[in-house]
Amino acid sequence: MPGDTNDIAIVGGGPAGLAAAEVLAQAGRAVTVYDRMPSVARKLLIAGRGGLNLTHSEPRAAFLARYHPAGHLDAAIAAFPPEALRDWCADLGEPTFVGSSGRVFPESFKASPLLRAWLARLDRLGVRIRTRYRLTAIAEGLHFETPDGPAEIRPRAALLALGGASWPRLGSDGRWVPLLEGLGVEVAPLEPANAGFAVAWSTLFRERFAGVPLKRVALACDGTTVRGEAVITASGIEGGAVYALSRVLREAIAARGRARLVVDLRPDLAREALARRLSGARPGDSAATRLRKAAGLSPVAASLLREAAGAALPAEPEALAGLIKAAPLDLTASAPIERAISTAGGVRLDALDGRAMLRARPGLFLAGEMLDWEAPTGGYLLQGAFAGGRAAAAGMLDWLRETAG
Ligand SMILES: Cc1cc2nc3c(=O)[nH]c(=O)nc-3n(C[C@H](O)[C@H](O)[C@H](O)COP(=O)(O)OP(=O)(O)OC[C@H]3O[C@@H](n4cnc5c(N)ncnc54)[C@H](O)[C@@H]3O)c2cc1C
Repeated sequence: MPGDTNDIAIVGGGPAGLAAAEVLAQAGRAVTVYDRMPSVARKLLIAGRGGLNLTHSEPRAAFLARYHPAGHLDAAIAAFPPEALRDWCADLGEPTFVGSSGRVFPESFKASPLLRAWLARLDRLGVRIRTRYRLTAIAEGLHFETPDGPAEIRPRAALLALGGASWPRLGSDGRWVPLLEGLGVEVAPLEPANAGFAVAWSTLFRERFAGVPLKRVALACDGTTVRGEAVITASGIEGGAVYALSRVLREAIAARGRARLVVDLRPDLAREALARRLSGARPGDSAATRLRKAAGLSPVAASLLREAAGAALPAEPEALAGLIKAAPLDLTASAPIERAISTAGGVRLDALDGRAMLRARPGLFLAGEMLDWEAPTGGYLLQGAFAGGRAAAAGMLDWLRETAG
């Protein structure tokens, strides 16, 4: 395959791989991107269906604190911060705006025009894209399954940006794990992140409330509290606030077989004030009326209280207020990784040097969601993938210069 055997190979055409391709091609390198799917960046396109939350506008320290483990992406994000990502979008003809929650979206709310403009730019830069190339082995060279049979390439340097294992039909299926382990690289098990969790609802509750949002709640587990919104599902609970707690919940389930999620259904009201309101209710009011009128609970919140109590609700205002402020739910399992928004686990960060190169394999670099970091929804995942891809490309250029490649 003449022309494919030299210079730079990028395997995985998601945001991390394509961001790296752009930096490398702009530096004058001959870059080929290989992807197993018939087209690249399918997960980016799906992310666009939800409005494409590209990054977040909160202050830098708070922004960086969203990533776990802390520090891993700091330098990459300093080099390509949210403002640079927004300028980059505007340059591609897709200006962005800050939504009321501080999240950043393209004005078009879509991923497809941005991706189209980006691919056109990469094409102008001479980046070649080979689709339907699945990386199947890493030996002396990189081995692929292609529509024309097996192929091997031996680039000067390569970047793997193969993604995690969530939504595998979009391309990233985690089947790269044994390939990396075969190189002696440690990989933390791939687990669902930003995922829902199973709750054993009663049939009545499930049938009535599956799909209904639980608005303005505070969720807590093992000392971490998150405010936001959750959604009841037929099998449990999901939504932004649950996703933001997903690491803590996952760790609790791994340690104890279940996670105790404590739901504050009136986070804006102190327990004493709530108890006063409940004791001021009319004596003849039913429990449902008291919860609705005095406590201001929605039907889903009032019914969730009954699910949490597991028995009759306490009649005494103090105790009822306590339950409204801390309704306990037992979560028994995470939703499967196939339905998670992102992946926790991946290649251990200490397998890489400061340039994102595998210590075990000079010349082979890694970036994006396949590495062992995680972040909540809110634009942090894409910002991490873009910035991480660009930083790995800078590391490759550095290494190529050093080795006179
Ligand atoms: C429904 C949904 C909505 C989301 N919404 C948002 C959002 O609004 N904001 C946000 O920040 N994040 C969002 N995300 C997460 C975000 O899309 C990902 O974190 C991001 O795409 C990760 O980028 P990546 O380049 O590391 O991996 P990926 O985008 O997964 O790309 C990896 C690429 O590698 C290819 N590949 C995998 N294995 C092989 C192989 N063996 N050979 C060749 N190619 C291979 C795949 O085909 C794929 O194209 C969302 C995710 C989902 C599923």
